[in-house]
Amino acid sequence: MAKKVVILGAGYAGLVCALELNKLTTAQEVEIILVNKHEYHQLVTQLHEPAVGAKEEKDVTLSINSILGAKKVKFVKDVVVSIDNEAKEVKLENSKLSYDYLVVALGSETEYFGIPGLKEYSFTLKSVNQANRIREHIENCLKTYSQDKKDSKLTFVVGGAGFTGIELVGELADMLPVLAQKHNVPKDKIKLINVEAAPMILPGFDEELVSVAKKSLEARGVQFIIGTPVVQVEPGIVHLKSGDTIPTETMIWTGGVRGVPVVAEAGFETEPRGRAKVDEYMRAVGHEDVWIIGDSCFVLAPNGRPYPPTAQISTQMGENAAVNIYSTMKHMKKEKFDPVLLGAVASLGRKEAIGSIGNKMKAKGWLAYRVKDASKYRYLAKIGALLKS
Ligand code: NAD
Repeated sequence: MAKKVVILGAGYAGLVCALELNKLTTAQEVEIILVNKHEYHQLVTQLHEPAVGAKEEKDVTLSINSILGAKKVKFVKDVVVSIDNEAKEVKLENSKLSYDYLVVALGSETEYFGIPGLKEYSFTLKSVNQANRIREHIENCLKTYSQDKKDSKLTFVVGGAGFTGIELVGELADMLPVLAQKHNVPKDKIKLINVEAAPMILPGFDEELVSVAKKSLEARGVQFIIGTPVVQVEPGIVHLKSGDTIPTETMIWTGGVRGVPVVAEAGFETEPRGRAKVDEYMRAVGHEDVWIIGDSCFVLAPNGRPYPPTAQISTQMGENAAVNIYSTMKHMKKEKFDPVLLGAVASLGRKEAIGSIGNKMKAKGWLAYRVKDASKYRYLAKIGALLKS
């Protein structure tokens, strides 16, 4: 009888896992069910673009049904409520699914570190809906400025200068002057501030490239406040540890991520930031029939640091889980997770980026931007969506 594989989440990890498993197996061997709360797959690595109106929603979303086409993967649009790993059953908002093998690829959620008011009074950038909300809010600030001349409407704060924060700041630096002109707002009244707790932006990244990024963004009017954590947010005010306050109507929080609660609630072993511990084959520790992949899991690299929660790592986890589910079904030798690290590139706006490529090469400017673009197209080709982009 065909084994039933349920894959929760159609992000980078879950979607690639479903497509790879589809390739490896026949319909007689396996029934594959992919569950996702939206009917579209999101290109999360591009969300900074719709957040400022540089791209549209349709440019960063792909219909899951059209990616799956005639493949044997069945798509269920629903929200995961809980997992009962003893009964081998997943409760969804509208139904229940039993499984032989389970893949949890539910991603991550925003980490607020318990900072008062942060969750209530900030925007986040983890989905296309959130990107839309940011864009509408920014437009509204600029559109209504002439009515009350509140300067806080023209001050835009991004909390956190990791890759997400810097990519968003770069996009805002390009687009705010364009939007100001559109709404007849004096450009010199606009303030774009990036607050970072660590002593440098892009903590841990190559110092020479960080310096290139900082200079480029400062030249476009970005003000950095570094070595100063955000400690509280109230409506209209961001408080810093230094005691300074920033009057603003727009606080966008990109200060970090944590695993989704459903994983720990199901009893899987997690680390302090809610990500599941997995073995070398990406299976939840102590569960030989459950794979946990993507941002929902925690894996240490040979250098002793966790692999970062990136699309690049997630897609390779998806491939590895698919191979290991197939190997388990066929009683074959499983493959250890050993990703190829291609480097990391952060865009600094629409035509510029910085990045490390492979282990040694550094890239900046237009070349680095093309590398980032190429990785997007490579991914689209992998999921068979190139023609739609
Ligand atoms: P992150 O955890 O990498 O960065 C968050 C930043 O916020 C850190 O620099 C941290 O010091 C800062 N911070 C935390 N608390 C703060 C506070 N109270 N006040 C001010 N600053 C504070 O999170 P991210 O940027 O969302 O990235 C998550 C992962 O996704 C990372 O692994 C990143 O590399 C990856 N990513 C990669 C790309 C890319 O490859 N282009 C793009 C986006 C994200």
